[in-house]
Amino acid sequence: MTDTSSCQSPAIDDPSLSADEARQRILDSISSIAHAEMVPVRNALGRILAADVIAPYDVPAHDNSAMDGYAIRFDSLSAEGETALAVVGSAFAGNAFSGMVGKGQAVRIMTGAVLPAGADTVIVQEVTRVDGSTVFIPAGQKQGQNTRRAGEDLARNSVALPAGKRVGPAELGLIASLGIAELSVRRRLRVAFFSTGDELASIGSPLAPGEVYDSNRYTLYGLLTRLGADIIDLGVVPDRPDALEATLREAAGMADAIITTGGVSVGEADFVREILARLGEIRFWKLKIKPGRPMAFGKIGDAWLFGLPGNPVAVMVNYAQFALDALLRLSGVDPLPVRPLLTAQAANAIKKQPGRREYLRGTVTQVDGCWQVRTMSHQGSGILRSMSEANCLVVLPEACGGILPGENVQVQLFDGLY
Ligand code: AMP
Ligand code: MG
Repeated sequence: MTDTSSCQSPAIDDPSLSADEARQRILDSISSIAHAEMVPVRNALGRILAADVIAPYDVPAHDNSAMDGYAIRFDSLSAEGETALAVVGSAFAGNAFSGMVGKGQAVRIMTGAVLPAGADTVIVQEVTRVDGSTVFIPAGQKQGQNTRRAGEDLARNSVALPAGKRVGPAELGLIASLGIAELSVRRRLRVAFFSTGDELASIGSPLAPGEVYDSNRYTLYGLLTRLGADIIDLGVVPDRPDALEATLREAAGMADAIITTGGVSVGEADFVREILARLGEIRFWKLKIKPGRPMAFGKIGDAWLFGLPGNPVAVMVNYAQFALDALLRLSGVDPLPVRPLLTAQAANAIKKQPGRREYLRGTVTQVDGCWQVRTMSHQGSGILRSMSEANCLVVLPEACGGILPGENVQVQLFDGLY
């Protein structure tokens, strides 16, 4: 038995829980793994910063030109009409002008070149006229224009990136722009997973009557690899108490989180519940959702357990609604309080019973500048093809009793989820 306070109260199972309550309880239970490691900058892609990245320099390091043109002193310009200035040199990115720009003088300057001493303003070359070594500047310039100030992107010693940030392409560039070659990131999450079910066959072996190929482990492989986890695939476990117990013990010994599929629906749940109760602290929930009603959540040893239903679509729905943000929090990221939703107009009628939240697979497109969503005609929770054809989930709230064509609905895009 472990840390009962980190699981939920009350101690008895909740007969029926809303999606929001379940999500909140899960997120409230979990905090991030503490371990960090140093990695070279490129290897940090997709990883979570374990510490703030502090700017060791001003970025940019010097005042510089934002345009190709002429660096001048603003007080050289006459208030009205054209000003003629003597071009006394040039400044290139990486090759500064070493002299001083005096009154009545200009320096030819390229984008990114250090602003020469004395100059405070850059005139874009397109508005100028050149005659020999004289440049003519029209009226109407503004002091400081077309310049970038030292430290305007990042001031020295300021927090360039906060701990908990996931490193993407922009962050890689930013870290490199600070001259940082190595940084501290959280170690990867270790997630173990397995499928349960006597009816499951593994690919490569022929299907016996009544068997189905185990697809959930492949879906989970994809989801968890995308998430950047170190995955531990424990295969297919038959619906036998000794096998299930042994696999759960093995998983808990090596993973931060365990994801199982199947075995939590009515009828199957009884022996699973008994084993889990013995091994750890687990809640079974009947969620007020469709698909994905039965689910288990809790802890075995130090590992968090997500017991997802067996239906392939329910696996993906429950992963996105309950496991994804929990795994992000565990890996050191603070998830958004709610997943972003898009408002779209329903292209078709949708039947629904009030009292539960429903997630329907749909395709969202833009029609005449408005987002429109059409639900797939087959919504059976075993129909995985529809998950591939869809690009979003239509999320219908508990109270909704059905949707008419043209009504607005909320849509969760697959981008960023799967
Ligand atoms: P269960 O939640 O175990 O009752 O399973 C519900 C349905 O999902 C059954 O039709 C199972 O055959 C199917 N199912 C369970 N696990 C898998 C799996 N790993 N791959 C494909 N189908 C599965
Ligand atoms: Mg089963």
